[in-house]
Amino acid sequence: MDFDDAKTTQGEFELPGSYIDDEGGIFSVVKLKEMTGKEEDILAARTIPFVRRVNTVLRNCIESLSNGTKEITDKKELLIAVQKMTIGDRLFLIIALRRVSLGDMFSMEIICPDCKKQGHYSVDLKDLDVKKMEKKDLREYEVKMPCGKVAKMKIMLGEDESRISKIRNENDFLTLSLLARVIEIDGKQPSLTTIKDLSIRDRNYLRAKMDEVEGGIETIVDVTCSSCGTDFKTDLDVGDRNFFFPSEISEI
Ligand SMILES: [Zn+2]
Repeated sequence: MDFDDAKTTQGEFELPGSYIDDEGGIFSVVKLKEMTGKEEDILAARTIPFVRRVNTVLRNCIESLSNGTKEITDKKELLIAVQKMTIGDRLFLIIALRRVSLGDMFSMEIICPDCKKQGHYSVDLKDLDVKKMEKKDLREYEVKMPCGKVAKMKIMLGEDESRISKIRNENDFLTLSLLARVIEIDGKQPSLTTIKDLSIRDRNYLRAKMDEVEGGIETIVDVTCSSCGTDFKTDLDVGDRNFFFPSEISEI
């Protein structure tokens, strides 16, 4: 699916997932306004954890969140909403905010893995693939792993991202992304060690299920080296300051 026929100028987008409020309302239409200098300063404040910076910037720039009948505009509730959105939605919104604030084209300098030459490439952010959740209100599900055990899984939300970012040390990203989602294995809450001790087969199986049910936006793009013609893939680093501050040197 396309990045949606989003009306960039008005900044209205449909989330791949949703925010579910206390009454079970499913909100997925977001009106965004462009960032101002205030949000630029927040994003650049490296002393504040990235997840919190994103929470604040999204709260500030979301004008409303709607489910067709009810509209949320209260900033306090919007802050709760961005923390309870799926991580796919949050990434989608960061990219949408970049489009509304600076336009659809994103330029990047990448070094070719083959000839090692640096090239200049552009990506049209509106063409990124968006995968909508099949069931927008799904938050928990069960998976029977190849080993026979049953994992109770959750859709990863902004608040899980925040929790997991606190234990990021030498642990690899793949283990943490599972730890954020596996609530129980055969009725028991897993520890970091439990997740590390799972077989690769079981881990791959869980990841495949996650990809199947969690919606999001594809940030891996195809690139053809302008020097040697090699095709390779690169991941858009939306956490990099160049994503929002294209004219700056990343060392600042
Ligand atoms: Zn090359």
